[in-house]
Amino acid sequence: MCLEMYETERKELVDILIGKGISNQDLINVLLKIERHLFVPDIMKQHAYKDVALPIGMGQTISQPYTVAFMTQELDPRPGQKILEIGTGSGYQAAILSGMGARVFTIERHTDLYNSAMKIFDRMNLKIAARCSDGTIGWEEFSPFDGIIVTAGGPTVPVNLKKQLAVGGKLVIPIGDKKLQTLQVITKKSDTDFFTREVPYFTFVPLIGKEGWKEK
Ligand code: SAH
Repeated sequence: MCLEMYETERKELVDILIGKGISNQDLINVLLKIERHLFVPDIMKQHAYKDVALPIGMGQTISQPYTVAFMTQELDPRPGQKILEIGTGSGYQAAILSGMGARVFTIERHTDLYNSAMKIFDRMNLKIAARCSDGTIGWEEFSPFDGIIVTAGGPTVPVNLKKQLAVGGKLVIPIGDKKLQTLQVITKKSDTDFFTREVPYFTFVPLIGKEGWKEK
């Protein structure tokens, strides 16, 4: 009964996202399948299929569904590709990428969020490599990545992430001040040549780390 209800709500949400310009059919199928209510705290479940960001603890949020869908569509992950995510948070974005067939590597700096995301990945039987550390320095051991997605907003593009991106790969990252960012979609054309497209405006929680904002 309850599950059916969420299925209807999920379908309605996906229709809203399609109305806002989400057109990648593989992505749409995954958005219809992945249960966002499993990634939010119990008291937030009733709001899980509204197109809004929701608090997940530690002052962090699960991104707005449209933002997740838009960033994923820009990243355009293909099955088998190696994708690095910085900012695991609830784990929802990582689950979407995994659902699309990517080999997902994700980094979260908050231990509590890392632990609860790991539990959800296990429960959903998702093969996602996760680590608790500062994602602004990347994950060199598994580089180069075919795509990198950063789900927290930083002041500048971390050099290590550009280095760890494969030639031909895309890096999607919000850059700006702490209140407002533009989404930069950066294509690595060669080791020294990057093409950047900017999409205004988004608001993310701050990217905190060596190549991000300093923690207060
Ligand atoms: N992708 C997440 C969004 C979570 S919000 C989701 O689907 O729910 C962004 C997350 O980035 C927060 O959990 C925050 O703790 C984390 N974060 C911020 N700076 C980070 C860094 N340098 N390395 C890893 N995670 C970071």
